[in-house]
Amino acid sequence: MNTDGTTIEEKSASQNFIHAIIEEDIRNGKNGGRVQTRFPPEPNGYLHIGHAKSICLNFGLAQKYNGICNLRFDDTNPAKEDTEYVDAIREDIHWLGFNWANEFYASDYFEQLYAWAVQLIKKGKAYVCDLSQEQISRDRGTPQVPATPSPYRNRSVEENLDLFERMRRGEFKDGEKTLRAKIDLASPNMHMRDPVMYRIIHAPHHRTGNKWCIYPMYDYAHGQSDSVEGVTHSVCTLEFEVHRPLYEWFIRELGIHAPQQIEFARLNINYTVMSKRKLLELVKQHYVAGWDDPRMPTICGLRRRGYTPESIRNFAERVGVAKRDNVIEYSLLEFCIREHLNKIASRVLAVLHPLKVTITNYPENGEEWLEAVNNPEDPSQGTRQVPFSGTLWIDRDDFMEDPPKKYFRLAPGAEVRLRYGYFIKCNEVVKDADGQVTELRCTYDPSSKGGQSPDGRKVKGTIHWVSARHAVDAEIRLYDRLFSVENPDDTAEGHDYKDNLNPDSLTVLTGKVEPFLKGTVPGDKFQFERVGYFCTDPDSTPERPVFNRTVTMKDSWARKMGE
Ligand code: ATP
Ligand code: MG
Repeated sequence: MNTDGTTIEEKSASQNFIHAIIEEDIRNGKNGGRVQTRFPPEPNGYLHIGHAKSICLNFGLAQKYNGICNLRFDDTNPAKEDTEYVDAIREDIHWLGFNWANEFYASDYFEQLYAWAVQLIKKGKAYVCDLSQEQISRDRGTPQVPATPSPYRNRSVEENLDLFERMRRGEFKDGEKTLRAKIDLASPNMHMRDPVMYRIIHAPHHRTGNKWCIYPMYDYAHGQSDSVEGVTHSVCTLEFEVHRPLYEWFIRELGIHAPQQIEFARLNINYTVMSKRKLLELVKQHYVAGWDDPRMPTICGLRRRGYTPESIRNFAERVGVAKRDNVIEYSLLEFCIREHLNKIASRVLAVLHPLKVTITNYPENGEEWLEAVNNPEDPSQGTRQVPFSGTLWIDRDDFMEDPPKKYFRLAPGAEVRLRYGYFIKCNEVVKDADGQVTELRCTYDPSSKGGQSPDGRKVKGTIHWVSARHAVDAEIRLYDRLFSVENPDDTAEGHDYKDNLNPDSLTVLTGKVEPFLKGTVPGDKFQFERVGYFCTDPDSTPERPVFNRTVTMKDSWARKMGE
């Protein structure tokens, strides 16, 4: 047993390659044994489940090694960023259960980054270039063929200093000039072929206003921001592996504290998209109701859908940290929320497709209150009283006029148990002019109260129900996958991921729920017995509660695992 209560086996199972690197560093006394990480979102959209993985990883490392994790907004592109996103990001990280030690902004370092750029110019390691972005790309060469040198590559230090200062003063238009690092035009790594450090953007920044019209590129800002803050382990996704030599080049040339960049595989999940650009498009073009639409893979969407922070943290833990890209099954996420809701959600009775049942031998206008256990997994949730009467709603799916063998629910002549209630037997099926079943006329057995068989006769099926007189009408929103194919980006030419949207991802019904749900408030979580897990939506009112289906009862993931 370890001191934290985990067994040796559990410890090693939860070990990943990043833990191994950090533990080696601690053993070697690197950074004085200090561990400092950061979560560095660009405030240009809402966080999604992929970010949640990075958050759990970065904050988790700090917790594990008694270090700190900071939140740093990578706000270097004023054209796309906004305080709306800053606020949403802060809220989502808190909701996930993490607190950052400090809140930083890359824009706080603009002055320092500028001074360092001047330093690089003076060292002859940076120059002002008049080529357009397109020309730079065109002259870039191929991995085998070196880039064509820019005609401005050999400008004097004095000229570069003067031009760079005038860039800052706003003397040039967007795109007219850039500052480029002078590195290696023949490098097999294209990122080392004189990458752009600064570009001109005349746009107000959400924090620095109109103070700047030149903005650092990601590669120039990121590592130096890590360095200023004293980050020891700069964890990022695999696509930045090829940027690492550049990250290290700037730090080395400036002679400043060197954090170690470590890359891991980004989280991909099937049946969804996770790029902020695409999620923004879905919102802006009204394919979904907003960033927090319960079908979105955003943190706020998952929250509104009924996901708990625990379930998302558990998901991130189960997915683990890999060095190679892979695609995780959406059903694993569902497995994690189902597992948590099974523990915490109150069981209630709700009927989604109501079919009337009249109990012909029940006292007219009679009623009684039956005791129901709120959560068999958690006795501390206690019991409640559920009203019963002579007119009930049951789910249409629980009746078949002509049932196959082994159908244990209601059918003509058949007997079922009503959850918490009595045995009822169907004696008559009433239909309308179109042949639609509109009512079942049944008798109940008063001696089967509580669902116990009075004489040993077998009643296999148990169905849920709601007393019609006491029922509350509720809006029920059933969600399905947002995309109908596993990889929405896999499209024929001339199509894009939007063509793979699932047209049936939202179904709205009016259901009947037990009166216990009258006082529900947004965020409440329930198991509608036999139907699925639901949570109360912010659109809910006391007169008309609104429920989102978080996840169905059926567990495709566990079945797949052979459980
Ligand atoms: P997107 O590609 O969705 O637009 P991004 O990488 O541009 O995301 P950032 O705000 O730059 O978004 O990301 C902040 C942090 O979250 C970065 O460290 C990034 O590597 C990490 N991150 C983003 N997406 C994922 C993902 N799918 N899995 C794991 N980490 C991710
Ligand atoms: Mg990014």
